[in-house]
Amino acid sequence: MPQRSVLPDPFKFAAEGRSLSGVIPLAELRRLGDVLLDKSGSVQFSLVGEMGVDRKPRMRLAVSGELQVRCQRCLSSMVWPLELDALFELVRPGQSIADDELEEDGFDAIEATPDMDVTAFVEDEIVLAVPIAPRHEMCEAPRPDGGAIKESPFASLEKLRKTDGAE
Ligand SMILES: [Zn+2]
Repeated sequence: MPQRSVLPDPFKFAAEGRSLSGVIPLAELRRLGDVLLDKSGSVQFSLVGEMGVDRKPRMRLAVSGELQVRCQRCLSSMVWPLELDALFELVRPGQSIADDELEEDGFDAIEATPDMDVTAFVEDEIVLAVPIAPRHEMCEAPRPDGGAIKESPFASLEKLRKTDGAE
């Protein structure tokens, strides 16, 4: 089993402007549970520490990958492209940050503790990002009689060809 990524000291990580990147197998993301139809792939992440101009420690998290989810209209599988890129301000446990202050700055706060579990952090962000009811851009709901979901586009082409041939 791959090792989980852990930051011994997230504040130091940010202060020193360090970075960490890695790959997390989808099978490790247990909290995504049944949302994923295929757990054989993985997601890539990168975490970059920085100090803001206001001397506040921050981390930028970027995650990308492709998730197989179930379309909530036609109920077949679809690929949902995961593209996350967000900036977080590190706060110490118990330290509070006014919500309006964060909204102004445009990023979220994350409570950073020693030995921060980066895998769990990435998982949290994926869970928040996955759409509740993903849908194909174009598809049809299955027929209530349980018949064929849709005619293949090739079938209609076939019909056209036959019409041509009859002339
Ligand atoms: Zn669909």
